[in-house]
Formats: sequence, C-alpha cells, structure tokens
Amino acid sequence: MNRKQRRAMNKYMGKETTENLAQKISQFGKRQCGACQKEFDKKDKDMVQSWSVVVKQEVVRLFCPDCIKKTKEALSNVKHKED
Ligand SMILES: [Zn+2]
Repeated sequence: MNRKQRRAMNKYMGKETTENLAQKISQFGKRQCGACQKEFDKKDKDMVQSWSVVVKQEVVRLFCPDCIKKTKEALSNVKHKED
C-alpha cells in the first residue's frame, strides 16, 4: 500500500492521522492550540517540532505539547479504569 492509498484509506475509515506539521500548517486559518487556545508560531522551530496536528474527517486541529500530554494521561486513566 503506498502513501496515497493509505491516506485515502484513513480518510475512508475516518481514522485520526497525524501528518507533517510543516505541510499542514500552511493550510491553517487558525494557528492556536485546539484545547487551550495557546498561540502557535510557525517560525518557532521548537513549536513546529513539538506541537501535533490531528486530522479527523477533514478537520485539522493543532495541539500544544501540554494538551497532548494531558490527553494521553486522560486516555491512560480511562484504560486503567477499564482494567
Ligand atoms: Zn494546548
């Protein structure tokens, strides 16, 4: 499966995909964290490398490292409860 097919499949499956931030950032209107509204500076290399882009059903969202961490912690808590 090549990259294009995989992307099409992800789109079809409605899966969340994380893609290259630098590529996606140019398509953004909003340049801030989707959770805490912290502003994103695309000229800041540390930010570009540490922030995450989540693509879900054509909607592109940015998340700062703090919110990614919180989300991961929340998910691990949920998983822990299920155990
Ligand atoms: Zn945030």
